[in-house]
Amino acid sequence: MAPSEHHQPTYDAVVIGGGPAGLQTALTLGRMRRHTLLLDSGSYRNERAGHIHNFAGFEGTPPEEYRAAARRDLAAYSTVETRTATASSVKPDGDLFVVEVDGAPVHARRVVLATGLRDRLPEHPGLAELWGTVAAQCAYCHGHEYAGAPVAVLGSSANLPLMLASIADRVTLLADGVDLDPDSARIVEAAGIEVRTERVEGFERTGSGCRVTLADGPAEEVAGVFIGTTGEQAAPFAEQLELELNPSGGIRVDPMGRTSLPGVYAAGDSAHASAFPLPPAAVLTAAAAGLVAATGVIADLLSVDHGVDP
Ligand SMILES: Cc1cc2nc3c(=O)[nH]c(=O)nc-3n(C[C@H](O)[C@H](O)[C@H](O)COP(=O)(O)OP(=O)(O)OC[C@H]3O[C@@H](n4cnc5c(N)ncnc54)[C@H](O)[C@@H]3O)c2cc1C
Repeated sequence: MAPSEHHQPTYDAVVIGGGPAGLQTALTLGRMRRHTLLLDSGSYRNERAGHIHNFAGFEGTPPEEYRAAARRDLAAYSTVETRTATASSVKPDGDLFVVEVDGAPVHARRVVLATGLRDRLPEHPGLAELWGTVAAQCAYCHGHEYAGAPVAVLGSSANLPLMLASIADRVTLLADGVDLDPDSARIVEAAGIEVRTERVEGFERTGSGCRVTLADGPAEEVAGVFIGTTGEQAAPFAEQLELELNPSGGIRVDPMGRTSLPGVYAAGDSAHASAFPLPPAAVLTAAAAGLVAATGVIADLLSVDHGVDP
């Protein structure tokens, strides 16, 4: 690590985020013996979930165990430093970047944003308390756990109920007072999905899942609830750096994880290529994006230091 004119070490890269994307980015950079600082403020998108699913080799692993194993892996790489700390700003500074960490500046040649998304839940009483256990957002991650059981989907799109229809015993679409467009209504009804149009009043945990109370008619007793959440950036850096975003709000990256600002990379749930409508939000894809962003950083540094094509 070179001393900078600021009399502090300059890292090859600061990776902001210690979820799957940031952990893998740091591992790949560490394996190339690049001086890397990984910052982790300790707040993860799946922190309320009991287990990771849909990741061969880690099926059923608690998320905190996965992260702890990755941290242990990183400890073997002497050029990687990990800190439990919060970054508050990222600013370009000549050829470098200055990252403000717990009130002190850190200098780096490259920055990787792996800060993730946070889910904004509909404000129904009782729903937040069920989040990550009985309520979730992803059929691939949690649908199979409800095989043969009744589930509800809160929303007005046909996709999530149709995905769950091949898994669950019964799917009820809770439209919550919103009129489904005629095509969606026809498609879900043809698939045997019941639509409840009444407003949803609240959710209450039961021994076998939850009870959904509606403004009219009987309550729904289901084993699980799925919600198409809207995600927002967990960190302010895309806005601070005026990075280009996709219509989804995800940071726009090219296939190597480069953002619209040279030297700043992004990986994981917070970012996606414009070819996708949304980030392919899963642990495995976040980790894969972290690996790719790290290779982008390496190619970039080789180009600057040795003049080879990136
Ligand atoms: C309820 C639920 C269950 C899920 N279950 C599954 C599942 O079973 N299987 C699956 O594949 N996917 C699952 N997911 C999706 C999965 O959690 C995400 O795709 C994955 O966590 C994305 O990884 P990431 O590294 O991009 O972000 P995250 O895991 O959210 O990590 C973000 C990191 O950035 C850090 N950070 C943010 N801001 C700052 C800052 N200012 N300074 C320092 N650090 C900062 C955070 O502390 C954290 O370390 C689930 C999601 C939810 C909501």
